[in-house]
Amino acid sequence: METVQEKCGIFGVYGEGLDVSRLSFFGLFALQHRGQENSGLAASDGTALRAHKGEGLVTQVYTEDVIKDLPGHIAIGHNRYSTFGGTGLGHTQPVVVEQVPGISKEKGITIADGLLAFAHNGNLPSVRTLIEFLEKNGIDPANRSDSEMMAEAIGHHLRSGKSLGDSVQEAFPLFTGAFSALAMTKDTLVAVRDTCGIRPLAIGKLNGGFIFASETCAFHAIGAEFIREVEPGEMVVVDKDGLRSVQVAPATPKVDMFEFVYFARPDSIISGRSVYEVRRNFGLQLANEYPVQADLVVPVPETAIPVATAYANALGLPFEMGLVKNRYIHRTFIQPEQHARDLGVKMKLTPLPEVLEGKRVVIMDDSIVRGTTSRQIVKMLFEAGAKEVHFLVSSPPVRYPDFYGIDIPRQEDLIASRKTVEEIREYLGATSLHYLSLEGMIAATGLPADRFSTSCFTGVYPIDLHERARDFTVPEAAILKTS
Ligand code: AMP
Repeated sequence: METVQEKCGIFGVYGEGLDVSRLSFFGLFALQHRGQENSGLAASDGTALRAHKGEGLVTQVYTEDVIKDLPGHIAIGHNRYSTFGGTGLGHTQPVVVEQVPGISKEKGITIADGLLAFAHNGNLPSVRTLIEFLEKNGIDPANRSDSEMMAEAIGHHLRSGKSLGDSVQEAFPLFTGAFSALAMTKDTLVAVRDTCGIRPLAIGKLNGGFIFASETCAFHAIGAEFIREVEPGEMVVVDKDGLRSVQVAPATPKVDMFEFVYFARPDSIISGRSVYEVRRNFGLQLANEYPVQADLVVPVPETAIPVATAYANALGLPFEMGLVKNRYIHRTFIQPEQHARDLGVKMKLTPLPEVLEGKRVVIMDDSIVRGTTSRQIVKMLFEAGAKEVHFLVSSPPVRYPDFYGIDIPRQEDLIASRKTVEEIREYLGATSLHYLSLEGMIAATGLPADRFSTSCFTGVYPIDLHERARDFTVPEAAILKTS
């Protein structure tokens, strides 16, 4: 079965007197890195729940008119990157349940008067229980994404007269997977996180109102104050009586390590840790583990920049921006087809021969997934005159697929699931290749190992995969322990 693979950003606001749609626009803009394919926003003024969705970047989806057409004191929004069903608007969120047929607009759709809007970051590897529940209650689950099924389940309880908080709480046990989610009716906003808190979700405050965002970087952008995270297994309800919290299920906090490695913005705080500081610590750990004899350290921009600066400082090596990135490139630019993907790397990165010529170069990146980009980078560095190219990676080999909501390909496409580290080095054409150890990566966070999901590196999935557990194997490279 083809599955929806997505990595997303969500944002929500509840506040009398706040310009909630405009704030959401700026919040979604700050979360653009979590999804660039399409975006949606739902808002309520207490009498009607309206939504707008469109393809592309946040700045392309919303116009002044769209923002003005979404008045109210509650709003939730969603940025999405997905590989499912092309780039259509089909599965764009927020999901709106029970809407009056929408009024088509040239560049998006506007839905007036919904019952519920729902925005989900994460992924449910198993939807069996959810499907059974929907079928039992006369709702056809066909052609619905996991998020759409979640929204329908909550909507079912709402229709029976329950409050939004009670509806989310009732539906919670059906959600077997990773979810940081926002739900809203005309008068209430709910934020909820799975018991492991695989994907981040934080609470902020602004002029008496409450803000929710996948990452704290969105608070700074709108002048809000970060209060705390939504705890794993917690549901937070905001309505005219203020904010209240319900611990729906016991928590076993295990945020996804990939948030620190690649996904999150460096100016965000996750699990009480600065993403920037953790990335610097990756660099210090790498300097301990692999002090390479080199003339300079070059990061693959942007994620690896703090890693590379810390590594270079620790070893007293010059740090140079020997690869220049086109700042305006984004994911949707890069076609999934191989030739276009190779071209994509050239459009994205240019090596500087004046920096690299005759040099022994340490190139620093955050992860190797397919190996395609990394191979191109090594080739470009040598073509630009580098004498040696030592490839350092601030995470262990990615050997296992993701089931919890980041866009990592199927296991057979992961280079480290098929090759040993030496075989990967050979494929990349690098002088040497070093991955940060699992222990070093954990140590860099300053938190205990059991506070993280490291499934992409270890194959240990903290939330039961049920029927999807068949979709991966333990690769020989992992058994050989060659990393
Ligand atoms: P490759 O050599 O083709 O595996 O590409 C490695 C690059 O992909 C690294 O620079 C990572 O920053 C980046 N990367 C890692 N995970 C993802 C992801 N889920 N989506 C897009 N890019 C990613």
